[in-house]
Formats: sequence, C-alpha cells, structure tokens
Amino acid sequence: MSGKILNIDVHESIIDFTADYISKSDKKTALISGGRRPFLFIKKKLAEKQKKAFFSPEFFTNDGFIEEIIFDNTELIKISDIEATFMIFETVKNESPQLLKDKTSFASFMEWSFEILSFIEQLDLENVSEDKLKAVKANAEIGYDVPENINSLLKNIFKIRKSFYNSMEKSSKTTKGHSFLKAAEIESNLLAGNFDEIILMSPFYLHKVEIEIFKKIYNAGKLTVFIHGNPKKYEALMQIYSVFGEPLPDIENKKDEYKLNIYSAFDDQSQGALLKNLISGYSENDLDKTAVIVPDSKMLQSVISEISIVTDRYNVSAGYPAEKTPVFSLLNAIIEAQLSRKGEYYYSKDVMKVLTNPLVKNMEFLGESSISRTAVYKIEEALNQYSGNCLSGRMFVAFKEIIGEKQIIDEISLAVNEVWEYTAPEEIMKMLKEIFDVFFTSWEKIETLNNLSYILSELLEKIYSLSVAANYSLNAEATELLLSLAKELKFGEVSQAKFQNEDVLNTFKKLIKNKRIVLPGSPLKGLQILGLLESRNLSFENVFIVGMIDSAIPAVKKEYSLIPKDIMYALGIEIAKKELEIQQYHFDRLISGAKNLNLIYPDNDKDERSRFIESLIWNKQFENKDINIVKINKFVLPKFLAKQPAKRKYAKTKKIREYLKNMSYTHSKIDAYLSCKLKFYFMHVLILDERTKVGQEFSAVDIGNFVHSFLKDTLCEKLDSKKLQTLEFEKEYFKKFENSFDNSPHFKFREDAFMIKEVLLYRMKNILHYERLRSYKNIYGCEKKYYSNIKTASGETYKFNCRIDRIDTDGENYMIFDYKTGAAPGSIVSNKYFDLMSNNFDRQNIKKAVSSMQLPLYKNIFEKETDFAVLECGIYDIKKAEIIKFPERKEIYDKCIDAVRSLLDEINTGESFEFDEEDKVNCKTCKYFYICT
Ligand code: SF4
Repeated sequence: MSGKILNIDVHESIIDFTADYISKSDKKTALISGGRRPFLFIKKKLAEKQKKAFFSPEFFTNDGFIEEIIFDNTELIKISDIEATFMIFETVKNESPQLLKDKTSFASFMEWSFEILSFIEQLDLENVSEDKLKAVKANAEIGYDVPENINSLLKNIFKIRKSFYNSMEKSSKTTKGHSFLKAAEIESNLLAGNFDEIILMSPFYLHKVEIEIFKKIYNAGKLTVFIHGNPKKYEALMQIYSVFGEPLPDIENKKDEYKLNIYSAFDDQSQGALLKNLISGYSENDLDKTAVIVPDSKMLQSVISEISIVTDRYNVSAGYPAEKTPVFSLLNAIIEAQLSRKGEYYYSKDVMKVLTNPLVKNMEFLGESSISRTAVYKIEEALNQYSGNCLSGRMFVAFKEIIGEKQIIDEISLAVNEVWEYTAPEEIMKMLKEIFDVFFTSWEKIETLNNLSYILSELLEKIYSLSVAANYSLNAEATELLLSLAKELKFGEVSQAKFQNEDVLNTFKKLIKNKRIVLPGSPLKGLQILGLLESRNLSFENVFIVGMIDSAIPAVKKEYSLIPKDIMYALGIEIAKKELEIQQYHFDRLISGAKNLNLIYPDNDKDERSRFIESLIWNKQFENKDINIVKINKFVLPKFLAKQPAKRKYAKTKKIREYLKNMSYTHSKIDAYLSCKLKFYFMHVLILDERTKVGQEFSAVDIGNFVHSFLKDTLCEKLDSKKLQTLEFEKEYFKKFENSFDNSPHFKFREDAFMIKEVLLYRMKNILHYERLRSYKNIYGCEKKYYSNIKTASGETYKFNCRIDRIDTDGENYMIFDYKTGAAPGSIVSNKYFDLMSNNFDRQNIKKAVSSMQLPLYKNIFEKETDFAVLECGIYDIKKAEIIKFPERKEIYDKCIDAVRSLLDEINTGESFEFDEEDKVNCKTCKYFYICT
C-alpha cells in the first residue's frame, strides 16, 4: 500500500489541521516542514489538546530529516562551510589550476570557492547526471556566450565535483547536496527509520533528489503529504501529485475573506511610522494574532524603532544584521587595524577606532571602567596633531612608543587620580600592554585559522568578563555566533593550513560578512516580525506587509552570480525558474489565512509597487467591474515645522568685563568680532574650539604651517636679496625643501605624500623666482613678535600683540607682508571705503569696507614699537607667488585704526553679546552653529 496526499484548503490553518491530525493518531510519527517555527505552534496546539494520550511526533526540517538518515546509516559527518570551501580551493588547484588565474591564495579565491560549492549543491539537489555534465563540457568547449573563466569552470566542473567528493569521503565528511544524493541510494525500509508515518507538511517545490527519496517512502506506504492550497493554481504542487502518481483533487475555489487595506508612505521611516499608528490601538490579544512581514531586512531597523514606541511585546525573527552590533564592529575594526599596519606601526586612526569602541573603552581592566576610559581619552589627545606631545599628529604609531612615553603615562595616572583613585604609572603601563596585546599584537602573528580561533575565543572571553557586553542581548547573540564560528575554525585540514597573516584575516572578514542574528523573544506571544520565508506555514489574523516594492517582494534574482540562468536550465536546475512561483505561493497562502490584510509600499520615483499588489488590485477591479474600487490610503508624516530657535544673548558679567579689559587683543580677535559678535564670544571669551580627530586628513592648516616654517628657514632674517640670485642659494633652498618635507611627521606615512610634495615644490620654485624679481635690500625679520597697546576714545588702553610673517627693508623703509597659503582676498579695501567708514563707525559697514584689520594693525604696532616707517604692506599670496598690496594712503590706515578703537570700546561696553541679523550669512558654515541658540 502506498502513502497518501491530503489536501487542505488554503484558508484553513495548516497548523490547526496538523495538530488535529497528529492528536488523533496512534502512530509513531515524524513531521517534516521547511522551517522550525511551525513546530512551536503545533506543539502549543498539541499541548492544548492533550486530553487523550497520543504519541508526540518528532520534528524535522527537510535538511534535518536527510541528515538524520545519513547519520543513522553512514559514517559521514557534516563538513563546515569553511572546510568545504578550502577543499574546493585545493581541488581546483590540483585539477584545474588555470581557474585560479591571479587568485592564488585561499583568501582571494574564497568567494569563487563558495560559488562553486553552491553550484555543486544545485547539481546534487537536482541530481544532474554525469552525462548531462559531459554535455555541458562539450558545449563549453564550443564556448557559451559567457566570460572565459565560466566556460572554463563548466568544462571542468565534472572533474572538480568528482575529485571534491573523493576528498570528502576520504575524511568521512559530507555536504548537504552530497547527503541528499547518498540518502537517495539508501533502501526504502531504512529511509523511514523506526517511524510508522512520515508527514511532509505543506511542501511546495521539491528538488529532484528529494522526490526520489520521498517517493521511496511513499511507495513503502509510510509517507503522508499535506498539500496546502489548490494544486491547480501552482505548477509545483501539480508536480507533487504527478510524481506520486495521484490524481489532482477537485477543489472549489473559495473566496478570500480578508479586509484589504493598501497604504502608501514615502520612505522606510514613514512606513514604520504608519505601521506604528496602525497597531497603536491593538490589545495584547490582538498583538498575539498579528504578524508584520518585512521582505527586505534593510527596513527592519525603521520597523523596530517605530514599533518599540507603542509596544515591547514583539518578536523579531527576520534576522538582524550582525555587523551592526558593537561586538562585530569591534572585530571589523581589529581586522582593519591589522590590515593597515606597517610592521609594528599601526595607523593611528584605526587604533583609535578599536580603542574607542564602547566595549573596549569601558572594560574594567584594573577593576574600574573609568581607568581604561581615561587612558583611551589621553592616548587620543596625545595623538592629536595639536597636542604638542612627541606623538602629536602621528599617522602611524607603535605601542612601545605610547608605553615608553613617560609624559603620557604620567598624564593618564594623574587624570585617573581625578576620576577614580591613585593608580601608579607602572599599573597604567601594565594595563595598556594588556589592552594592546588583546586587541592588536596577539593578532599580528596569526597564520592559521586554528590560531585565529584561539585568539578570537580569548578576545570574546575578555570582552565577556571585563565589559558590559553580556548585559545586552544583541551582543550576547553576536558573541554566541562568533564562538560557534571559532569552534568551526578549530578543526579540519583548513584549520592547520598556513597562510599569510593578512590572508587569514581577509578570510575571516569574508566569513563574518552578512551574518545575521536572531533577536531574542517569544515566537508564540506578541507581535511577530518576520521575513516572507519565515512566515511559511503560519497563519495570522492581522497581517501587515511593509516595503512592498517589486524588487523586494517578489525578490527574484535576475542572475546567479556565477552560472547564467540559461545554463542552469540546460542542466535541469529549475529552482531559478520557480522563484517567482514559490514567493507567490507563500504570499497567497499568508494572505488567505488573514482577516485584516494591510499592505504598505513606498510611493516615490525610485521604487515600483510590488506586482503582488498590482494583481490584487486588478482582481478586485475585475470582480467588481469598477476601476476605482480599491482606494490607496496615502500616509503623510506630519510636518514638524520646527520654529527656528532664537539665538541667545550672552551677558557680559563682571568677570567677563574684567577679562575683556585685560585681554591681549590681536587682529584675528578684531576680525572675529567684525564677522559676528557671538563668534567672538565663543572663540575668544569661552575659548571653545573644535576637537581635532586623530588621523584626521591633512588639513590646510598643516600645509600652511609647513610653508611658513620652510620660508622662515630659507627666506630668513638678515638674508641679503643679492644672495637669492646665486646658484648656491638655489641649491640650498631646494635641499632644505627636500629635508623638511621628508622629515615632516605629517607627510611621512601618507600614500599621497609624493603628490603633495610635487605641488609644494612647484609653488616654492615660483616663490623663489618671484623673490629674485623683487627689489629690497634684505629681510629684516621673520615671524617677529611685537607687543603694544591702543588707546581708545573712551580713554581706555588695550593691549595688543602681533607676529609678523615677513618684514623686508630697502635700508630706509620697511615692508610688511603676511603669507597666505589658502585663498587670498581679491581686494583688501572696498572702492566705497570712505563712504562706509564714516566717523560713526558701524560694524556692518566696517566689514564691508575692509576685509581684515591685520595689515593696518601690523603697521600701527610695528611703527609704534620700532619707530621705523612702513612704506608698504601686503598679502603674500603663496599659491600665485604675488603680493596683493594694501593701499598706500595714510588716511586709509588711520581710519582702520580708528575703527579698531571704536570696536574695542563696543566690545568693552554694553550688557551682552547679542546676535545681529546681518551676521546670519556666516551661520551656515560656522563651527558654532549647533551650540549657538
Ligand atoms: S552660528 Fe551664526 S550667530 Fe552663531 S556664532 Fe556662528 S556666525 Fe555667529
């Protein structure tokens, strides 16, 4: 007697039907389903029905069932993915080395290995015969219209597959595909094991080798197949009836009864917000009967963040991207730090990425997290380009330099004393050494995956014992996943194979890429957030599907990454053809069981609405003969027109007044006040400045500093202009350039240093040329400092200081210049200067009249302090190698100084620093924008 096929109406719950069937059975039953989730629901139903004794079934997924057969009947054990890919690499190396091309290391071939492995699995599952493969080989020799390496793979796949299986069997290992093939060879009485009945619950597409296996069990009378839905609607279901030799049942198509709502929103976030609004009134009981389907996991975050506002009774089973957890981002940062390392020198930016990871900086290395936090902060400060420390601005750093730098260790010790308790410098050094060992140096010598496995396990153990990682479920799940990976890496041939350090790290990086973790929660209670596949066989009263765009649902691959679809079809691998039908079936099944169906899609120019929605709308229109029957509810996020907060005023308190009175002024302080009163307050009263980041890209300031220091060194004080004309000077000038550039810590480790050098050399050549054309006797001073004071109309005297880049002399008069390496102003003084500079100085007019008070102030201070006359002042434009002169007229200079006097009085009087509407133009690019309200 053969087995049987039972058909269940698609509107009925397959869970209820199965639980009912099993509870009435007195057989020893195995239940096979595509996923594990339905088992939990069936168990729950069975527990509710447990009024009469029955045999509890054993539950298997399709793969699990085959594994069980293999373990019961052979010596084979499952091979890990990494071991299988390594075996493929070795096989290709021996059998078809031409396929490796330039990918001679395992790490570089790994992605290909995975693709070949998956292709072989498809061949196994569809039981593609040797003859078919040989035919492919013949065609490949003629040449398919595919890249050469694919033709070459097709020619050799037969050989590779055979050799791969030989290697696997020698080590008693098996892959999924190989296990299926092996199971198909086993006699039918052994396939069913000791079960009286095997239930195949709601299958859809069955691979050819699966059909062979299940047919044997069916013919032995032990297989019962539950088909959910009308087979006449789906080719894959008709195929099941046909292979088991059963006639198609005559089923009446019942109408769907759900209430359909279709919503459009704009983007992921607004879809999430809409969803939140729709479920916000749901009771706990309603939530238990509700599923949110998220076909594309990239929407998961928006959905979770919105839903968690209205309930914490939800369970996510759609797979959260592991790389978003701190544990994974730390691992990625550790690998990056190794890959950018040059010997014992680490790229400072990558070092800080590891050290500032929340798990690292809060670790309790000396029993208190504030100690490591302080140390990390102090190291970051020391590496900062403006710290003045000997590690300041270092792009690359060795740990022995940090530990060996007494100043840093003492500073950490002092700072720790402030936040915690006295910790001796030796203790600090010991702690830093441990931190550097765990996160950096122990990773330097890894040469095998086995080494990596130990180092990784130790790292995870440290994180777990010394940080707060264990308190957060996401980290706990991520750690679990990594520990199981570490276990896999410990065994097999691949674990002992020696590689270059960077190859092992690259291999590991590829292995952890795209890993997903399941967020903890109860799948039986609360709202269920699922992917489409995870919803297989489940039924919910309220169904929401978000992100319904045509590329996400149905998510049909246009092409397989390695083998083109046409060749897959030629080989009889039809799963690619079935993708659309499979997803349509899951969608139809899910919605047919619902009472309230809510479909949400983004209405924008980029994405197309899912064809599943189109077809539902079309059916409704057709049934009702009404084109307007389906209404789309458009959801528009309420616009929050945030009122622009008013800029605050800042009182000039007594202390501030004293400070302002005693402050030593400079031209940049006056210019800042001219630009914006609040900017002056933030910058020069509160002394707030941006924190520069370690490893920050080379800035204009650094180039400026380099040029200033080089020119001070070459066009130096007392240099006679005649000397400039000599060859000897020229040689010395360029030699100094080479030396200063090559020894600059900022340029040393930069890959683009050669380019920066070329540009600067070109500019310095032009400067030398220009200097040779100028007429002056000698250079009087470079970067000379002067201190002076200015008396204002109110009778007050204010201190001033300046540092003049360059002072030349013709023997009688003096010329003052300021080097500008960045953009120089087109003109320094406006044509309407005298109109704007009325006696009643207005700040807005002053800044329109003159771009900066720098040169008039330099002239004023220099003349006052030296009694020498300044004939000329100008901006020395380094880029163009030319001088932009300040107008010579004395009245212009004098008016400027009068304006400065008036500004000084303004700064020192009044109740507060207030915002001026006319300064608003500077706000967009102002670094104080976010604090300035
Ligand atoms: S944000 Fe605008 S108002 Fe505030 S300090 Fe900057 S420029 Fe001035």
